[in-house]
Amino acid sequence: MENRNLISGEWRGALDGSTFGVCDAATGREIARVPHCHEMEALEAVEGAANALGAWRSRSLEERAQFLRAIAAALRSHEDQFAHVITAENGKPLSEGRGEVAYSADYFSSAADEALQLHAINIRSRSELRVLRAHPEPIGVVAAITPWNFPLAMMARKTAPALAAGCTQVIKPAELTPLTALLFARVLADLGLPPGVVNVVTGDPAAIGQAWLDDGRVRKLSFTGSTRVGRLLMRGAAEQVVRLSLELGGHAPFIVLRDANVAAAVDAAVAGKFRAAGQTCVCPNRFLIADEIHDEFVERFVTAARLLPVGRGLDLATRVGPLISDEAVARMRRHIDDALAKGATLRTGGSTIAVEGCVDRFFAPTVVTEASSRMVCFQEETFGPLAPIARFHDESHAIQIANETPFGLAAYVFSEDSTRLAAVSEAVNCGIVGANTGIISDAYAPFGGRGWSGFGREGGRWGIEEYLSWKYVCTGVHG
Ligand code: ADP
Repeated sequence: MENRNLISGEWRGALDGSTFGVCDAATGREIARVPHCHEMEALEAVEGAANALGAWRSRSLEERAQFLRAIAAALRSHEDQFAHVITAENGKPLSEGRGEVAYSADYFSSAADEALQLHAINIRSRSELRVLRAHPEPIGVVAAITPWNFPLAMMARKTAPALAAGCTQVIKPAELTPLTALLFARVLADLGLPPGVVNVVTGDPAAIGQAWLDDGRVRKLSFTGSTRVGRLLMRGAAEQVVRLSLELGGHAPFIVLRDANVAAAVDAAVAGKFRAAGQTCVCPNRFLIADEIHDEFVERFVTAARLLPVGRGLDLATRVGPLISDEAVARMRRHIDDALAKGATLRTGGSTIAVEGCVDRFFAPTVVTEASSRMVCFQEETFGPLAPIARFHDESHAIQIANETPFGLAAYVFSEDSTRLAAVSEAVNCGIVGANTGIISDAYAPFGGRGWSGFGREGGRWGIEEYLSWKYVCTGVHG
C-alpha cells in the first residue's frame, strides 16, 4: 500500500524521516506508517501547486473535463481496492465503503459536466459606451483539510471542483485515515495528472494548516470537520484574507408528522441514523415524532435497530461497524447516561458489544425515548449510534424544537401530505432537507449548511463556484 506523500509529483517522506501509525479501526492493530510532516513539507507542496498552476489553468475546458472523467472512471474501476482501504482505516461496512467510492466518482463526473460550462459571459450594459464580459478565473492554489468519516468522498468534493475550475491543490487528510488519500494520490499520478496539480501531505494538522493559511499563495481553504477547528481556521485565515468553505458539525432533527407513512419513516430513520455507525454530520440526532404515531414508530424502530448486525466492516453481514475512537465511545456513554439521568427511557442498546479479536468500540444501536431539550444529546451532536426520541403534539412546536440549535446542516421531514411536507421543509432552518427520505447526499446538489454548520456549498455548479474568482472586463466603445 502507498504510504508516502505526493509533493510536486514526487513520492516523499517527511524531511526528518518521522512517521506516525495508522490502525485498523476494528482491531486497533497498526497497518501502516505514513510521513509525519510539518510546515516545511506543507510549503513545498504549495510551491509544487503554485508551479503547476499556470499550465493547469491554461488547459482547455475539454482537457480538464477529460481528466475529471478519467478520474471518475479510475475510482469506479478501483472500487474494491478503495473500499477495502476505507473499511480498514475507518471501520465502516464494506458495502458503505463501496457506496462511498461510487458517490466520490459522481463528484468527478458532475465536475466534468460543469467544467464545460465555464465560459466567459457577455453582459448587456445599460450604457452603449461599454461592452462587458465576465471571465470565470480559477482562484489559484487551494487547500483541502478533510475528516476521517468519509476519507474519499470529502476529498472528492473538494478536488473535483478545484480541478474543474483550473485550480491546483494541496490536501491534508485526517490522521486516522490517510491511506485512502494516499491511494487516491497514486491513482491520480498513474492517470498522468501533471506533477503539482494535486499534492497530499500527512502529518501535524495545526502546523500544516497554519503554514497554508499564512503562506499567501493559498487563496482558498475548504475544510470539513468540527466546528471547533472550523473556528480556528477562520481566525487563521484572516491575515492573508483566505477564502473559506466550511462544512462543520450538524444536529439534524428528524420530524415525523402524524400523517406520515410510519414504515417508510422507520426505514429512513434506520438508514440515516446508523449509517457509518451514526458518525456522519447529516445523520438524524433528534427524533421528533407526532403523538398519534409515536408508539408505532418507536416499536418498529426499536425492532429494526435490534436486528442490525454489529461487527467488523469486512464481515459482509455487518451493518454497523466500530466507532472511530475511545473518545467517541465515551461520548456515547456520556450522552446516554445524561439522558437516562434526566428521565429518558432506554429502549435498546446502551452499551458496547464484544467482537472477537477487536477493540471495545462496537456500540449497539441505541434508542431512548422521552428525550427532551434539557438533555445533552438534544444540545450536542453525539456522532454515534444514539437515537433520542421526543414526542410532540403540534407541528409548530416540533419546528420550534428543530430550530433551537445554532447548527443548520440537515433536517428530515416525513408526511404523506405534500403541502405540509413542503411547509415544514421550508420552516426548518438548515441547508439540506430530506423529505420522506433518510439518504440525502447527491454529488449534483449544493451540499452545505448554515450557522455553526458552516458556509459554502459542495456539489454541482455550486461547488465549482467556490473555486472561481470572476473578473469582468469593461471595454469602452468610442465614437
Ligand atoms: P474530528 O473531531 O471529527 O476528528 P476535526 O475537526 O478534529 O474533526 O478534524 C478534521 C480535520 O481537521 C482533520 O484532518 C484534522 O487533522 C484537522 N485538524 C485538526 N486540528 C486542526 C488544526 N488546528 N488546524 C488544521 N487542521 C486541523
